[in-house]
Amino acid sequence: MTPLTQTTRLFAELFIDGEWRAGADGATFPVVDPATGDTIADFAAATADDCEAAVRAADAAFPAWSQTSPRERSELLYRAFEILRAERETFAEIMVRENGKAWSDAIAEANYATEFFRWFAEEAVRVPGDFRLSPAGDKRIVVARQPTGVALLVTPWNFPAAMATRKLGPALAAGCTAILKPARETPLTAAFIVDVLHRAGAPKGVVNLVTPVPTGPLVAAMIADPAVRKLSFTGSTEVGRELLRTCADTIVSTSMELGGNAPVIVLPGADLDEAVPAALLAKMRNGGAACTAANRFYVHESLHDEFVRRMAAELSTVATGPGLDRDNQLGALVSAVERDKVAALVETAVAEGARVVVGGASIEGGAFYEPTLLDGVRHGDAITRTEIFGPVTAVVSYREVGDAVRMANDTEFGLVAYVFGPEHDALRVSLRLDTGMVAVNRGVLSDPAAPFGGAKESGLGREGGSEGILEYLEEKYIALNP
Ligand code: NAD
Repeated sequence: MTPLTQTTRLFAELFIDGEWRAGADGATFPVVDPATGDTIADFAAATADDCEAAVRAADAAFPAWSQTSPRERSELLYRAFEILRAERETFAEIMVRENGKAWSDAIAEANYATEFFRWFAEEAVRVPGDFRLSPAGDKRIVVARQPTGVALLVTPWNFPAAMATRKLGPALAAGCTAILKPARETPLTAAFIVDVLHRAGAPKGVVNLVTPVPTGPLVAAMIADPAVRKLSFTGSTEVGRELLRTCADTIVSTSMELGGNAPVIVLPGADLDEAVPAALLAKMRNGGAACTAANRFYVHESLHDEFVRRMAAELSTVATGPGLDRDNQLGALVSAVERDKVAALVETAVAEGARVVVGGASIEGGAFYEPTLLDGVRHGDAITRTEIFGPVTAVVSYREVGDAVRMANDTEFGLVAYVFGPEHDALRVSLRLDTGMVAVNRGVLSDPAAPFGGAKESGLGREGGSEGILEYLEEKYIALNP
């Protein structure tokens, strides 16, 4: 095992009822650094009994936690925010090591993830209610908001920190107790966050961490437990669909942040000095492994050649290599399996007629793939229908703006779209796009203060913003005599 350079103690166990512990049968699974192939930790595998213990602990802690004052919950999150801010280098290094991302992406995620604790520390004390007279004047309508109950939080590997704090922050702020289930690839970041909450003073049972093996049946068993009243899931649409079916049996409240297939529309008149750096960011942030990553570029024919030339020039200078070398701008994919999926997509695109302008190959020595630009892609080709999740830019040329909008909307996904062009034109186009979010003349839109979420098969509910905490609260209507 290769030790981390920054961390004094790396947690690789389950956290249940306020204690770190091995799985009931002592089994572990390896956590691998995709940049080197080295095993960096053997993480405890949770059994059915461990998952059951986590649910019981969260259930037992709920009555007292839900009755704490909003200020107390706010202060816990604020302390956790301060610890994460002070330890951001360690936080980032753990992400680099288990996920493979570039150092700049890891630091950006550490900052972004940390901000969710500050934002929800601020939201904890601002939960709204209502008190009205009915139209007939015969009753007072009181609407109170109460925490939903035990929340199961399932997160993906691509943003192992931010997806966890974006759920833990509002859950704890609302007064719910939580069980965090991170992806098998990236449990160390989750364990670090849970340790921070523990150090910040989270009472036992309020936050628990399990890594069930096998995943599907044990997550389903937790959802089936009557104590679990909330599932917040971030991951693929395929798994989200399955979990929605499981939740139907016990009518569990769900929030779903699922897959994306983000279109980029470059309108006639777009300023390429502004659009190209932003488009590059939309594509290459987190190595393209983002649900918000630009997946398909629809570029007006008047700008197409120049756009391709400038993007290719930018992509060909991206420094690629291990994230621990802080000068590298593009790190490894999370695993060789993910890298091979990207390579196969590029091969298919070429077979369908696309031309490789830059890149187009795996790099030896780790799960690396070259920054790549494909031109001559046609809407409908496999690469325009699939979430690429890697550093590959696919460019489609168009003539009519109406066609670009139609192609952008021609997908079952609806998370985010990017529009570049004169602001008024871009705003009009934004209103016609079937997505939960649109970035206009910008490459990144994520912000803890904004409601993040998708339309169509990209999800249900919103995270962040003032909406985020409502996902963990139930409305209670009380009728009073006037
Ligand atoms: P995934 O769906 O394979 O896994 C996500 C989580 O679900 C992991 O913790 C995994 O262990 C767990 N899981 C897998 N199978 C399960 C099952 N049968 N039952 C219960 N849990 C199960 O997704 P991934 O590969 O980790 O992440 C990539 C996906 O996540 C992409 O589709 C991406 O778009 C999506 N994503 C969405 C957002 C968003 O906010 N919309 C953010 C980040 C990632």
